[in-house]
Amino acid sequence: MKKINEVLDLSAKTAVVTGGSRGIGFGIASRLAEAGANVVIASINEEEVIKAVKTITDNGWSAKGLVADVSKEEDVLNMRKFAVENFGGVDILVNNAGIFPSIPIANMTIDDFKKVISVNLEGVFLCTKYFSEEMIKKGNGGKIINVTSIDALHPSSIGLAHYDASKHGVWGFTKNSALELAPHKIWVNAVAPGGIATPGVAEMQGGGADTTVDMSKFLEVFLNKIPMHRMGEPDDIAKVALFLASDMSSYMTGSQIVVDGGFLLS
Ligand code: NAP
Repeated sequence: MKKINEVLDLSAKTAVVTGGSRGIGFGIASRLAEAGANVVIASINEEEVIKAVKTITDNGWSAKGLVADVSKEEDVLNMRKFAVENFGGVDILVNNAGIFPSIPIANMTIDDFKKVISVNLEGVFLCTKYFSEEMIKKGNGGKIINVTSIDALHPSSIGLAHYDASKHGVWGFTKNSALELAPHKIWVNAVAPGGIATPGVAEMQGGGADTTVDMSKFLEVFLNKIPMHRMGEPDDIAKVALFLASDMSSYMTGSQIVVDGGFLLS
């Protein structure tokens, strides 16, 4: 039987984390790098990518980054090329990039709806398609971790109908891709965060995409419904992502782990 430090060891593995420059993605990228993985951080804002890579490499861990939009096919192909050229392949894909603009259906345009679906759901499809192709080519199997949400199971608030549609979609996609990719030893699981204190949530708190939703009131009500009485930290999700990325989850595929401080109980 492997020793516990060997079970958690990701050295010689390469992990791509979409939206890895801040928030939950950065937390995950940091834990995977600490466990020994070469990490590729891919996000939209170049300055944030550079800052995130520097923070990780300053700790003595391995990371490189690039600007890539997961909803654009050419960017996803470029992300794959970058990982292969810099680290020789991909063993772990974390589909974390996501947006959550709050807009009631009455005010939501078709473009608002399509934008959320294109980043949150089509982005997961594109990354899974092209990175699993690379994993299959290499023949060493792999791990895919999709960051869903408690909204993949149950709505947390009004104003997120497009978001909930996208996250329910990612959960369905997780299960079906787990079935299809299992013969290639590619295990696909999801982690479903509850309320996590991230820059994205702070921006939402500052007003959100639509002024008809009072976000500060919403977040106050939300906090009161968490039995643990605190918002989560990115590292609360990162530790579970590390579990899913490592041999700790050796007999798991097609599962979703809820990490919400008990929110769904209330
Ligand atoms: P965040 O603080 O806003 O960070 C999101 C990250 O995703 C940023 O690095 C952002 O890059 C990147 N990103 C956005 N659109 C992208 C695109 N099209 N292509 C590539 N990267 C993109 O968000 P977060 O709170 O950490 O959320 C991360 C994930 O967790 C999302 O999927 C979200 O739905 C999920 N989640 C979060 C919570 C929560 O309470 N925080 C709860 C449940 C689920 P730039 O900064 O460069 O734009």
